[in-house]
Amino acid sequence: MTFCHLCRGSELRPFVREGEWQYLRCLNCGLIFLEPQPSKEFLRSHYQDYLPADPQEIENWRTMMTQVFTKSANLIQDVIPIPGRLLDVGCGYGFFLQEMARRNWQADGIEISATGRVYARDKLGLNVSDRPLPRPEWQDNCYDVVTLFYVIEHLQDPKSLLGEVRRLLGTGGLLLLRWPHTAPIATMFKPWVSRMKLYQAPSHLFDFSPSTIYKILDQLDFREIRTTICGWTKPNRKGEHLAAWFFGSLGEQLARVTRDRLLLPGVSKTTLARR
Ligand SMILES: [Zn+2]
Repeated sequence: MTFCHLCRGSELRPFVREGEWQYLRCLNCGLIFLEPQPSKEFLRSHYQDYLPADPQEIENWRTMMTQVFTKSANLIQDVIPIPGRLLDVGCGYGFFLQEMARRNWQADGIEISATGRVYARDKLGLNVSDRPLPRPEWQDNCYDVVTLFYVIEHLQDPKSLLGEVRRLLGTGGLLLLRWPHTAPIATMFKPWVSRMKLYQAPSHLFDFSPSTIYKILDQLDFREIRTTICGWTKPNRKGEHLAAWFFGSLGEQLARVTRDRLLLPGVSKTTLARR
């Protein structure tokens, strides 16, 4: 029998299919997840070639993420103004770490893709480890801030990883999660979901919402949990760029004037929480 990863509920319904992959929705808490998950070995090799090595594509990626990274850095410094120690889990090419290092933070990364890691180390001179969490050899309270940009939806066991993040954070330490909110789009475009590859199956193992993200962090005793809209990614294709700008800026304005009470469904969200 399959249970919901978050609430242990057993009332699960098929949500969407992408190719051979099936996503289920928990009727109790609303969590959406891939079932069954691919094996650990499959995922490990899957992520080895996940990031492109072509210089133009790397540059496109930087352009796509710049605004989100700058606004996230501002958000972090609103909470913790004095530069401290930061860990970016799944740091990719290291562009966010570069931004934080520029602001005098001690910024370390973890990246399992060799392409991203080599770029971050050799081109940007950053300190990036190849070994994923958990890292039992690291002391408790060794970071002031831990960030995960578009990582949480890829994890096989997000709750245990966030538990490890909590251990690494000092009291008052800050967690920043950036995650896609795909379900509203998948619901709207249901007949075409398989073709649109919204979940890049089997890459996304989970699809969170503000309430499921709250629940998972609350279960782990994080406090001051706040979800907002913090910038939008800029895709390179013109039509997509325009849509991202329109819905992203609309979402950001709505969040601002309602003090995060109205969060536009379907656009990426950023969640802050303190230990
Ligand atoms: Zn559930």
